[in-house]
This record gives sequence, structure tokens and C-alpha cells, in this order.
Amino acid sequence: MNGGEIRFTLSTLRSECDLCGAWSPFTGKTEVRAGRTYVIVRCPNGDGEFSVWKRDNEALVLAFQRAQETLTDSDSYRNAFNVLVGAHAGAVAALVTSPPAELPLFAIEDLPLGREHAARWSGLVLEWQGWRPLPDRSLRVEEALATALKYDEKACVELVVASARQDEIAAVQDKLRRRFGAKYPGVLAVASRMLRQDSAGM
Ligand SMILES: [Zn+2]
Repeated sequence: MNGGEIRFTLSTLRSECDLCGAWSPFTGKTEVRAGRTYVIVRCPNGDGEFSVWKRDNEALVLAFQRAQETLTDSDSYRNAFNVLVGAHAGAVAALVTSPPAELPLFAIEDLPLGREHAARWSGLVLEWQGWRPLPDRSLRVEEALATALKYDEKACVELVVASARQDEIAAVQDKLRRRFGAKYPGVLAVASRMLRQDSAGM
């Protein structure tokens, strides 16, 4: 963690509901108790909100809190946050097409994004400076490739290949393999092949 950049998306702050076991997304709310900052998550099945503290998440929570202080439009950010953790595909599409000044970054698995917007999302993930907190370079490359994998979308791969180096792609392969398992080889093989062709052509 350096310069307030994050290595994990805010999806990392979700937690399993104690009552039904469902993954419950971070609500954007935090509370401090006995010197610890808890994140508030909400069960998608109506079991309500509960607070969670995990030592491994402290740096990410701090980066999120620091990012709040620099927002130019907190209301828009909060609205965008609610859209992204909700399940309204149309609203997510509108956000991606015309993003407000600042957006929170979630893992692509948690977003109800239509495939037609996958390349747009990959482009934002790779280059956009409006994410709060800002993702570091490795997270940008990982999430752009994760989007390519989720949608099996060649346009996303082309964006990554045009923007990322072979070593940057290699560095996130293990994490992507864990995230996508059997779905992993296809798109990434295409990325590797395109990278090889690129360097052969130079
Ligand atoms: Zn529940």
C-alpha cells in the first residue's frame, strides 16, 4: 500500500451473513469501536446490517476512509456506491457510460454489468483517475483481465494487451486462476499470444 492506492477492490470488504451464509456487500458505512474500525455489511436476503472487523482489511478500510475526505461530490459517490452494490443492471450501465467524478471500485464478479459494457469497464479500470480510493497498477491490470475472463470478451483482452506489459500480466495470473478456475485458460492464453505477437512485431 503506497500513496493511498489500494491492492484490493472494495469487494474484499464483503462478508458472509451469520444467519444465512450469503455474501453480504460492504455498505460504504464504517463505525469505530474500541479503537477498531468496523465495516458495515448488509445481507442481500434481508437479515439486516452487521459490523465486521478483520485485521487483514485494515489498510483497505483506512484507504477508503482517506478517500472520503478528498471527494469532490460525496453525494454522487454515495449514490454510485449504492448502485454498484445493488442489482440494477440498467443503472450500472448508465454509471459506466457516463461516470461521475468519483466511483468506488468493486470486483467485476459483484457487478451486474452487461457484456456490451465490458470493454468500457476494462478501459476505466486500466486508465481512469476517478476511482476512490485509487487502485494500484497491479489491481488495475488484474481487474481488467478479470473482466475479460468473466465475459470471455476479446475487446477487453486487446485493451489490456495495449496497456499492460507481459510481466504485469504474469504477476496477476495466480490471483486470476484462483478467482476463475477452469474458465481461466482461454482468454489469458489469447492475451499471452497477442503479447508475443506484439513483441515479435517490434
Ligand atoms: Zn443473511
